Amino acid sequence: MEERKVCVRKYFRMIVMVFALAALLTATAESQGKKGFMKQSEEEGESAGTERVSIRPSGLVPLFPSDATCPEVASPFASSRRYDGSYRPSFRYGGLHGGMDLSLDEGTPLIALASGKIIGMGIGGQALGIYLWLQHAPEDTGLPFWVYSKYQHLLELPKHEIGDKVQAGQVIALSGKTGTTGGHYGESGYPHLHLTTLAGRSGQYERRGSKIIVEGLRNFDPIAIYLSGLKDLDEIEHIPEEKKRVAIPYLSEKGSIHPAGSKVVWPARCKPKQ
Ligand SMILES: [Zn+2]
Repeated sequence: MEERKVCVRKYFRMIVMVFALAALLTATAESQGKKGFMKQSEEEGESAGTERVSIRPSGLVPLFPSDATCPEVASPFASSRRYDGSYRPSFRYGGLHGGMDLSLDEGTPLIALASGKIIGMGIGGQALGIYLWLQHAPEDTGLPFWVYSKYQHLLELPKHEIGDKVQAGQVIALSGKTGTTGGHYGESGYPHLHLTTLAGRSGQYERRGSKIIVEGLRNFDPIAIYLSGLKDLDEIEHIPEEKKRVAIPYLSEKGSIHPAGSKVVWPARCKPKQ
């Protein structure tokens, strides 16, 4: 009887060990699978040739108009998560978002956030997609630095030439999902605009592939475009709590900017509330 008990205990221990081993192997395979997946998944937020990459949450909150419905921010600047709540891979910017995402149906017109000049476009691969670069002088935005904005995942190459001047509120491209399929978002992809904004000290730039090289180039939260009276970029991180809600000027479906006279505007149209 006693012998049988020992035997049963041995069997039991063996079964437990087999299960533990199986669990361990599964976990290892899963984590390797995830790592492999992350490597080929999104790289959006492209470093854009910045030597000084500082991705820190700004704490700025967009305050949308009360009389219109705007495409809101699906994943803000410096967020560690994508729009679907999943975590971004850590190999780029420590897993923080280098721009902001707006979820938009394919073919949605994209709007020049300020007047400026088209300085680049191209067809990028995974995570980049079809992109467009705009350059905005300080007088275009009212900000004390040059702004370089990059619109990603476009439906097609914009029907503009490099060097073309654009006006704030002008349709510059159509939103799409290029560069989003085959990775995290699967075969169906994720139709959205990824907008990167970079501040530079100069209007002199150099294009290197899909990147722009400018003196003192730094990523910053696109919401800061809509701040007025900013004296320098560092000030963004020291804005008093009561000023962190930033009113968003927008383009109506009829093509007028609200409030009238604003130099800067949301990159997609807003619909009037019924
Ligand atoms: Zn993005």
